[in-house]
Amino acid sequence: MPAAARTVVFEPLFRKSSQCLYVDPFAPGAAQQIREFRPAVIAGTLQKILAFGGELRPTHAVVAFSWEGSRCLSESERDDLWEAYHVPVFEQVITPDGRLVAWECEAHEGLHLPNGAQAMADRIVVGRCDCGADSPRVIRPSMAPQLNGERGQPTLLLPARLGSGRQPLPT
Ligand SMILES: [Zn+2]
Repeated sequence: MPAAARTVVFEPLFRKSSQCLYVDPFAPGAAQQIREFRPAVIAGTLQKILAFGGELRPTHAVVAFSWEGSRCLSESERDDLWEAYHVPVFEQVITPDGRLVAWECEAHEGLHLPNGAQAMADRIVVGRCDCGADSPRVIRPSMAPQLNGERGQPTLLLPARLGSGRQPLPT
């Protein structure tokens, strides 16, 4: 595993490994615990990521979770994340139990939808994305897509692997 995969995640939904550390962001000493882990990526909901006010230094990316069927990241929220961390932001839509509903790839051309996911009110684009994936996408969605009865394991995509779409964090 490359060092670029070291990930701190603020939701206790995903399997743990030597490369993936769960931290409760509101626990005493959380910031120090994270700094000692030297993450390339931090992943969590907007509120939890911003709870640190930029005092963390992920080297690679921020993965911002949105919950299925709720509001997506706004442009100003993306700006807040950039101001705090100065690394690319990738939105990933998950269910409350951590299953993947949609993801933003390195081309940042909307949210990719896996089989079984559906966007409600937003326009869906089909055709090849600049990342090379062919899955349908929803461009600048206002509401996060939802899963339609699909079953699967909790899945955390790492940004370096987002282009290939379906490779979860190895554990
Ligand atoms: Zn793409």
